[in-house]
Amino acid sequence: MPHQPMTVAGVEVFPLCDAVGPMGETIRRPLPEMFPGGCHHDGEWILHFHCYLLRDAAGRTVLVDTGIGPQDGPAASWAPVPGALAAELARVGTTPEEVDTVVITHLHSDHVGGAVADGAPVFPNAGYVLQRAEIAAASEAVLDHVVRPLGDRVRVVDGDADLSSGVRVLHAPGHTPGHQIVRVGDLVLTGDLVLHPVQLADPGVPYLYDDDPELAARTRAEVLDRVRAEGGLISTAHFAEPFTRLP
Ligand SMILES: [Zn+2]
Ligand SMILES: [Zn+2]
Repeated sequence: MPHQPMTVAGVEVFPLCDAVGPMGETIRRPLPEMFPGGCHHDGEWILHFHCYLLRDAAGRTVLVDTGIGPQDGPAASWAPVPGALAAELARVGTTPEEVDTVVITHLHSDHVGGAVADGAPVFPNAGYVLQRAEIAAASEAVLDHVVRPLGDRVRVVDGDADLSSGVRVLHAPGHTPGHQIVRVGDLVLTGDLVLHPVQLADPGVPYLYDDDPELAARTRAEVLDRVRAEGGLISTAHFAEPFTRLP
């Protein structure tokens, strides 16, 4: 059953379910180790891998993240490749050529795995929005596989910036140095700012793979407080449900 879209501030938001599955054994750990102090049960963590397409009334499109990518892509060592992003985009009536802007929340392989194929941008007419701090912190391998092949399509942003149609990117560091989130109306697309629902109950619960767990926790608390104060919603990358209204 595909996830249903919703309209926020005149922009249609389509959740694109790239994949569903557990993490591969190379990085899988029991949940109490993944979320220290937050998870006390040891059930299996089944992740969804969500990208989102935003489309305004004029047909302008912003794709948030590009998923896990192909069978032999950079996420293959741990994620349930291949991703279904192309089919999901087709399901909501958009071709790769029609995507105007791609926001890369951060350079982890399950968020950029579908950005480049055969050394060329998968969304050939799009600008790819990345934070300067994220590029500065990237490994040579990531620069080689993702950033350099995008060439002059990369739009480097320093901090917060308006895109189009009331869509805004906000620097939200901690999970990675240049992690960014996307805001439209009272909806915030949170990338990997929040990984698991236990972090809604307590934003202080760290995630094992946060680069800077203390900064991530601080950023998470700030963003969630603001969304709660507005009675808003979040869309995460890895929850089973794409839209979560904060209690
Ligand atoms: Zn899903
Ligand atoms: Zn990540």
